[in-house]
Amino acid sequence: MTVVIVGAGLAGITAAVRLTDAGLKVLLFERSRHLGGRAGSAPDPTSGRELDFGQHVYLYCCERYRLLLRRLGTESLAPLHRPMRIRVIDAHRDALPGKGATLYSTSLPTGLHLVPAFLRYSHLSVRERMETARILLRLLHRDRTAGELETLTFGDWLRGQGASETSLRSFWNVVTVAALNAAVDDVSAAWGFMLFQTGLLANRRAAEVGVPQVPLSRLVAPAEKIIADGGGKLLLQSPVAQVEVERGRAKGVRLADGTRVPADAVVVATAHRQLPGLLPHEHAGHPFFSEVLQLPVRPIIDVHMGFAAPVTSPEFSFAVFLNSPVQWVFAHEGGRRLAVSISNPVDFRRAKRDEIAGAVTAEVQRLFRCGRPEWIAVRRHASATFDVGPGKARFRRPQKTPIARLYVAGDWTDTGWPATMEGAVRSGELAADAVLQDLR
Ligand SMILES: Cc1cc2nc3c(=O)[nH]c(=O)nc-3n(C[C@H](O)[C@H](O)[C@H](O)COP(=O)(O)OP(=O)(O)OC[C@H]3O[C@@H](n4cnc5c(N)ncnc54)[C@H](O)[C@@H]3O)c2cc1C
Repeated sequence: MTVVIVGAGLAGITAAVRLTDAGLKVLLFERSRHLGGRAGSAPDPTSGRELDFGQHVYLYCCERYRLLLRRLGTESLAPLHRPMRIRVIDAHRDALPGKGATLYSTSLPTGLHLVPAFLRYSHLSVRERMETARILLRLLHRDRTAGELETLTFGDWLRGQGASETSLRSFWNVVTVAALNAAVDDVSAAWGFMLFQTGLLANRRAAEVGVPQVPLSRLVAPAEKIIADGGGKLLLQSPVAQVEVERGRAKGVRLADGTRVPADAVVVATAHRQLPGLLPHEHAGHPFFSEVLQLPVRPIIDVHMGFAAPVTSPEFSFAVFLNSPVQWVFAHEGGRRLAVSISNPVDFRRAKRDEIAGAVTAEVQRLFRCGRPEWIAVRRHASATFDVGPGKARFRRPQKTPIARLYVAGDWTDTGWPATMEGAVRSGELAADAVLQDLR
């Protein structure tokens, strides 16, 4: 039995490995030169390095992503920072190094384990800290599937609980922008609940941060051998032009060079915007496929910069900055290279690359008291994540489609997770399981 998979992002790779492990032959077609899709990396001509398409991190609660890395034998290349410690620095007020507040976990029972950190969270008044801890405890025990939470913004729900505007700016937004690429007013309350219940409060380790130590594509590179050992093949620079459908059943794909590839099942694991274009005209208009285009996307900007000498202290790994054009700053290569990740980049909505480079360089020089970088690479990812605003969840789709033997995978499919590596991996598993159910 042969399964064709379109797209070697994390969703496609996960489906490919799972189906190979189940004894099927997999042909995995990827249109670019690189493995990993949005969570990949490529040589950068300016720096001469292989740079990630944006700094990626995962949390301990991303169980399926961790299991994928374990299967690929690369888990140790993306270690978790233990114990959990996330420094939050006010770029106007706190001086580096050492200042700012730290979010950390304690050995108190689950739910209470973060309370000491919130009570010391210096970006809020004592009253706001108590109020934040109280809201978190209330949120922990609420049913997040209640219908009205999908139509309400998280910001409105928080305000209804008495959250101050300062706490929205200096705490709640910090978490939602980092994890959901949107401020609390652009996130449905259902997603806000999911994020805090699963990512922060579920257990003491849930929010430990894992940071890849090698370029992202290398984390998933062993997939190629696994697929080949199972009799299949990974083909880079091989764009699929169309899924071939006969009498309501997927029969294979046609590549952009015209080659026809027959298959017993096809999994389309591209981003949602590419899905309808891969289908024959008569199927592309089916609401299952066409309405996914109504799921909006949101951008992320990432900036990589290299210096002649280390600009961070040896213990600096990453930090969050409040009131700053830089949000998260990660140190690599012993502090000689910084990766700056700017989610929900409202301040740079219309800025040109040079303007972004100038603003980020000036801020990094000010914060780290360093000279100019030797090189800088600015990337703007227009479609980094899908929108998790109220009412958007209805445009996500299950992995099984109305066309027999055609399946979809991708972070945007219905996984219960936001646009993350974990969501992509879960979608790949679900799609592979649906294939196995039908082919056996
Ligand atoms: C800058 C940035 C930062 C991010 N940070 C984080 C983070 O810190 N943590 C986190 O968990 N998530 C993060 N994400 C989100 C995460 O990258 C995605 O959710 C995840 O990688 C999506 O994987 P996917 O497999 O669903 O889709 P994709 O990665 O988009 O994979 C789809 C693949 O299909 C291929 N393809 C498309 N059309 C065709 C065709 N016709 N033929 C063949 N191949 C085709 C594409 O080239 C691509 O490789 C970030 C995303 C970005 C952009």
